[in-house]
Amino acid sequence: MSRDAEIPASIRVRHTPPWLEVALQCWSADSPGQPRGHAFLLLSDDHMEAALLGELLSETQLCQAPQGAAACGECRSCRAIAQGAHGDLMVVSRPEGKNAIGIDQIRSAAQFLQQTAMYGSLKILLIKDADAMTLAAANSLLKTLEEPAGNTLILLTTAEAWRLAPTIRSRCQRFPLPPCRPEQAATWLISELDCSQAEAERLVEMTQCQPVAAWAMQQAGEVPVRDSLWRSFEQLGAGAHGVPADWNGVNASRLVSESLVWVEYHTRESMMSRDRQQGERWLVLHRCLTEVAARLKQGATPAHDILTAELNRLFRSRSHDAFPEVATRFLEGLGRLGVAG
Ligand SMILES: [Zn+2]
Repeated sequence: MSRDAEIPASIRVRHTPPWLEVALQCWSADSPGQPRGHAFLLLSDDHMEAALLGELLSETQLCQAPQGAAACGECRSCRAIAQGAHGDLMVVSRPEGKNAIGIDQIRSAAQFLQQTAMYGSLKILLIKDADAMTLAAANSLLKTLEEPAGNTLILLTTAEAWRLAPTIRSRCQRFPLPPCRPEQAATWLISELDCSQAEAERLVEMTQCQPVAAWAMQQAGEVPVRDSLWRSFEQLGAGAHGVPADWNGVNASRLVSESLVWVEYHTRESMMSRDRQQGERWLVLHRCLTEVAARLKQGATPAHDILTAELNRLFRSRSHDAFPEVATRFLEGLGRLGVAG
């Protein structure tokens, strides 16, 4: 599972992560009874975590008997949410297999907000990965944000707020999630997945301390794929030759997004250890991969064998003196790779 992974309709965790409990408490403390504004941007580096907070907030705000800052889990409203059938909550996310939220989805959401509330007085629209909205969808949402109907709460979740139109951002109050510590993340993963301390620590490491993303990855059976890809990246850095067999069944965008997460992990590590030369090399590698990722997102379809051969060469040369030239040639040759801008 990569940063582009689809968010499930409902992220059902058994225990609310403690740092999200803190976020829920902050929200209630800021707005006892009713929220102050009607539109919020829930921000986290982990898009799964932002979406999970969106779900928890929706549940709490609609709950008929909230327990402090949390939903009771038993009232009519909570039961309806658990069944995915609450008449006053609409969840919008990228449709399966698509990479954007379209204008039709936002138009139906606007109509939904116009209708009378069925349970109480509040209606909630939750848009997960709001940065995936097309320009037309975002423009359509603007009107709803400017003139909300009745008692409505609009929650937009994102890990990449910069992708959102400034007009959308300026109409929402920002609600950044508190970061969690690696020990906290591991403890939560152990309770949630019944895994060992070592497994939990490896998950925290592989996701750069994004435990909700790690949880989702494990639920989707994706951990072995990331694990084998990461090992193959490490081996290339250590001088292994040939395109790793583990890359064969993996599509280009997955391969590139997994390498990006891996490179980001190492960039951060080398910055922490103040190894400037290594840090710069990781940054150059990062730039190469970001370029490829952006073009793949725009619809480029490179031949798999050519792309993997070039990535292989790039990764293998990271510790060689000629790495800067190899990276420059890689960037110049993106057109030949079939991923020209
Ligand atoms: Zn309830």
